[in-house]
Amino acid sequence: MNMKLPSRTVERLSKYRRLLDKYKDLEEAHIYSHKLAALLNLTPEPVRRDLMLIGLNGNHRKGYNIKALIGMIGNTIDRKEGHQVALVGIGNLGRAVLGFIRKAETKMNIVAAFDIDKNKINTYLSDVPCFDLNEAGKVIRDKNIRIAILTVPPEAAVSTAALLLQSGIRGILNFTSVHLDVPQDIYLKDYDIITSLEEIGFFINE
Ligand code: NAD
Repeated sequence: MNMKLPSRTVERLSKYRRLLDKYKDLEEAHIYSHKLAALLNLTPEPVRRDLMLIGLNGNHRKGYNIKALIGMIGNTIDRKEGHQVALVGIGNLGRAVLGFIRKAETKMNIVAAFDIDKNKINTYLSDVPCFDLNEAGKVIRDKNIRIAILTVPPEAAVSTAALLLQSGIRGILNFTSVHLDVPQDIYLKDYDIITSLEEIGFFINE
C-alpha cells in the first residue's frame, strides 16, 4: 500500500507493531485502543486516529484483532520485497547498529557496509560485506540500495552524504549530529542520543 500518511503516524504504527508482536501469541486475540495507548504512554485519540487512517475500526466490545492489526500495519508501512540498506562507517556505533538491526524482525535488510579503513574493507560483519567507500556508486546500484545509515565521524558527514546521494540513495538515517542539506525529495532522519537525553533532563521533575 502506498498512501500518504503523516510521519508521526508512520512512526507510531511501527511502534504499535513492535509492541503487538509480543502479544500475538497470547490467548487474548483483541486489544482496546486505550490499552495499546497506555502501553506506549500515549493518549487513545492519536492511536484511534492512526488506525482509522489505515482503514481499521475497532469493535466496540472487543477492540482490535491483534493479528489483523499487525497484518494491516505491515500492508501499510512495509514494502513487500523489503528494503536494501547500507551502513556507512563501521566503527563502534556502526557495528552496534548493524548487530541490532540484523537481529530485529524487520524488512530492512542491511546488505552492504562501507568504510575507508583498509583493515575493515573486504571483511564481513555479521555476514554483511564491507566495501571501500570508493565502490559505493557501483555497489549501491548493483544491490539496488536506496537507504543508508550514516555512522561516519562528523567531519566526514557532508561529503559522504553527497556521495551517497549521487549514488542513488533516497533516504538517510543520520547519526552524525551534523546538519545535512539534502534535496526535498530525499528523506532525511536525524537521530541523536544527546538530544534525547537533554530533552529528558529538561522534562523530568526534580
Ligand atoms: P568510530 O570512530 O568508532 O567509527 C567511525 C567509522 O567511520 C570508522 O570505522 C572509520 O574508519 C569510518 N569512516 C571515517 N570516514 C569515513 C568515510 N568518509 N566513509 C566511510 N567510513 C568512514 O566512531 P563512532 O563512535 O562509531 O561514531 C560514529 C558517528 O556516530 C560519529 O559521527 C559520532 O559522533 C556519532 N554518534 C552518534 C550518536 C547518536 O546518538 N546519534 C551516538 C554515538 C556516536
